[in-house]
Formats: sequence, C-alpha cells, structure tokens
Amino acid sequence: MGKRVVITGVPGVGKTTVVNGALEVLGKEGISYQSINFGSFMFEVASSQKIVSDRDGMRKLPGPVQKDIQREAAQAIAKIEGNVIIDTHCTVKTPKGFLAGLPEWVLRELKPDMVILVETDEDQILSRRLTDTTRTRDMDSGKEIALHQEYNRAMAAAYGMMTGCTVKIVKNQDFLLERAVEDMAEALR
Ligand code: AMP
Ligand code: MG
Repeated sequence: MGKRVVITGVPGVGKTTVVNGALEVLGKEGISYQSINFGSFMFEVASSQKIVSDRDGMRKLPGPVQKDIQREAAQAIAKIEGNVIIDTHCTVKTPKGFLAGLPEWVLRELKPDMVILVETDEDQILSRRLTDTTRTRDMDSGKEIALHQEYNRAMAAAYGMMTGCTVKIVKNQDFLLERAVEDMAEALR
C-alpha cells in the first residue's frame, strides 16, 4: 500500500519548492513519491471544457462549478497507485469565502495518510507574492494572509477528524529552506 500525502499551504508559501527539495533528498535514499498537482488536474478538466484560460482564474468561478471540477480531479487522482504527494490547498480563497480543498467527497476519494501544512509568517508570504511574476496572486494584506493560514489549520483539524490522517506543520521561513526541506523529508520517510 502506497502512502498518500497531501501538501497544503497558502499561495506563495513555497510548497512546490520544499517538496521538490525533499524529493531530491529522499531519492538518494531510494524512497520515491510521485508528485502531482491538484490544480493542474483541475485546470486540465476546466480548460478542456473551455471554462477558463488561466489556472489562477479557477478560484473566481462560481462555487458549484469549482466543486464539479474538483470532484473530477479527485476521481482521476484516486486512480494513481504507489506513494503519492498531492500538492493542493487546505482551503481556496474565493470571492465568496473559503472553499474546502478537500471536502468530504474528495477525502473519500483520496484517503490521505497525512496532511502537511506549509506555513511561514504572513509578511514573508506577502513579499514572496509581490516578487512572483509567473502567477496572478491575490493581493491580500498581511492580516488576511494570517487569517487564511489560521482557517487552514482549523480545516486541517477537520480532515484529521474525518479520516484519521495525521496533520504535520512544516515551517518554510526565509533563509531556512534547508530546514524546511529536511522537515518535509523526515515527514515523508
Ligand atoms: P496552485 O497551482 O496549487 O495554486 O493551484 C491552482 C488553482 O487550482 C488554485 O488557485 C485553485 O483554484 C485550484 N485548486 C487547487 N487545489 C484545489 C482543491 N483541492 N480544491 C479546489 N480548488 C483547487
Ligand atoms: Mg505551487
């Protein structure tokens, strides 16, 4: 039975960077995971239906549409075997409020063993978003980012209650990427 690990964190916290670093470390130890991005699976569904042209446009779609795409993505991801890392969001910040990234019907498909929250101080996230020109990041204030992270923790607790998965917090602080990579690798070992 493979391990299924869900990696979450607010946009710009550096999930992908930390995961890639950890996978490099683990590769040298003969431990392998297939890393997939939930948003990419959703974008594939959404763009084939011609509903959006940009992955950052998906969180602005009507809630029911986002949920339909989310379900289709979860069904596709559930078919993947072996050790899997699912790079996604604990909650998605939409114009109508926080949308659970893993509502009950998605959790039932994915059956995660562990949910990892990647976090850092809100001012660091703010400045990372400002310097990322590859994405259309929301321009939240530090307070709004702090609230999003707080809400994500609450939601992760709910995921733990619903599935029995463990919840691990990995800090990805400025100038301490190595530590984040090592903490992530240890969680995945
Ligand atoms: P990302 O590249 O991880 O920022 O994901 C791109 C977009 O995919 C996000 O802004 C969301 O609109 C969507 N997305 C990713 N994961 C989920 C999820 N679990 N539930 C709903 N939407 C998601
Ligand atoms: Mg990412």
